[in-house]
Amino acid sequence: MDYKEYIEIVENWPKEGVRFKDITPLMANGPAYKSSVDEIVEYAKEKEIDVVVGPEARGFIVGCPVSYALEIGFAPVRKEGKLPREVIKVDYGLEYGENVLTIHKDAIKPGQRVLITDDLLATGGTIEATINLVEQLGGIVAGCAFLVELSYLDGKDKLEGYDVLTIMTY
Ligand code: 5GP
Repeated sequence: MDYKEYIEIVENWPKEGVRFKDITPLMANGPAYKSSVDEIVEYAKEKEIDVVVGPEARGFIVGCPVSYALEIGFAPVRKEGKLPREVIKVDYGLEYGENVLTIHKDAIKPGQRVLITDDLLATGGTIEATINLVEQLGGIVAGCAFLVELSYLDGKDKLEGYDVLTIMTY
């Protein structure tokens, strides 16, 4: 399936010079959304994943259906102040702006095999921060899966030594 048909490129959003890849048309198409997620489900099976972790908000869109399909848990990574119980934190830089990400301290047990999901890999800052959180909790990052990779931003450089699946590359 040519998934790129369902990615809308939005010029100069959210700021001048950015060519935003909008995944909502892919999500709106049932067969395309299911088929793209199914590729990640197969990958997660190969990697014997125990728990899926995804950063808000679009990491949930990719990760939650994978968890559901495999009957394994999903742990959300959220911006500071959003999770109600004890968290650990990491500071990170985005393609645009700065941020702090958090995860519940009991979200992952040491030794669990984790799949990290997000919609898109750009500079790799978000995934690097999410890996940091998982590893602080003793999780093993067994794979990282994205619908889209912007290869010209070299995010994969930050993922050396980790296994990565991307469904589409620009
Ligand atoms: P990175 O941290 O790799 O630079 O940026 C990736 C994060 O920013 C992801 O969580 C992703 O949702 C968001 N992001 C950055 N650029 C885009 C884009 O063009 N399209 C979409 N859908 N998300 C983006």
